[in-house]
Amino acid sequence: MTVLLEVDDLTVGFPTEDGLVRAARGVSYQVSRGESVGIVGESGSGKSVTSLAVMGLLPRNARVSGSVRFLGEELLGRSDDQMSKVRGSRIAMVFQDTSTSLNPVYTIGAQIAEAVRAHNAVSQRQAMRRAVELLDVVGIPDPARRAGGYPHEMSGGMRQRVVIAIAMANDPELIIADEPTTALDVTVQAQVLEALAAARRETGAALILITHDLGVIAGHTDRVNVMYAGKLVETGAVDEIFYEPRMPYTLGLLGSLPRIDESGRRRLTPITGSPPSLIDLPPGCPFRPRCPKARDLCREAEPELTPAIGRRHLAACHFHAELASATAEEVFS
Ligand code: ADP
Ligand code: MG
Repeated sequence: MTVLLEVDDLTVGFPTEDGLVRAARGVSYQVSRGESVGIVGESGSGKSVTSLAVMGLLPRNARVSGSVRFLGEELLGRSDDQMSKVRGSRIAMVFQDTSTSLNPVYTIGAQIAEAVRAHNAVSQRQAMRRAVELLDVVGIPDPARRAGGYPHEMSGGMRQRVVIAIAMANDPELIIADEPTTALDVTVQAQVLEALAAARRETGAALILITHDLGVIAGHTDRVNVMYAGKLVETGAVDEIFYEPRMPYTLGLLGSLPRIDESGRRRLTPITGSPPSLIDLPPGCPFRPRCPKARDLCREAEPELTPAIGRRHLAACHFHAELASATAEEVFS
């Protein structure tokens, strides 16, 4: 498989009055052509900062180091001008807030058609026809009529599907969707995720799906990267992450998912406490204060990502082997 995106030792810090916020700490991962990779972690774990760095969209005061290669070419350190050519056409971004992507004064159809014409030598009429087709692909009912409408005339879920249609019109090689379904209800979430799947089928694009909700990832990604306190703490194939997690934090996230037990009640085993401040992180494992498995070594040394199962499933836990066949209930309650 061709490596499309290669993030290597990506580190991002923000100088503030209180000190340096270490938002991403040595993040390394790869995305192959056409692959779908999830990035999961609680709010503040560095998911957005990591992908904004890939897109060259970090604020100017950010201190960035490491490497981001797209089909072998280094993206870090490129000028705004050079990056704006990559954004949209080769890497498309879908944000939680559609108002950053949609222009309130143009019709939906015109905005998709403009993206179509930016990449194809077609007439306005042909571009409009394609816009209607794309609206159909992302599941917008009555697409010909909807194309003439404005963003404010649509629900949040529909607007998000329009943003995905624009992403498709740009025929990108990679779509980065950052919390695309957050704030939408469950039925609408499913429609948006289905629109992303349709976009992948139609364009062959790879997908990075960022979410704080592990439930969103199931069925929509091949691999999962779990982030905590600015670091990747577990990475593996989606089934292994769900069925054989090797980092207590991942097990905790799984235990926090609402589910129905035999008696039909919802059961939750939440992780207690909250993530650490990213200023002046103490030595040791950042998850230690919340981890029921923690002991002395966890206070002394921060665990690196190491192979847990095979070479492609890595976990950053000194005691990852002890997690084999452990359940969230056993560990967290
Ligand atoms: P996530 O997307 O996982 O919720 P983010 O990547 O947005 O988290 O943020 C990671 C950390 O970086 C957070 O602690 C956040 O407060 C901090 N951060 C993000 N942007 C800035 C900024 N511009 N200045 C200072 N701190 C920031
Ligand atoms: Mg975020």
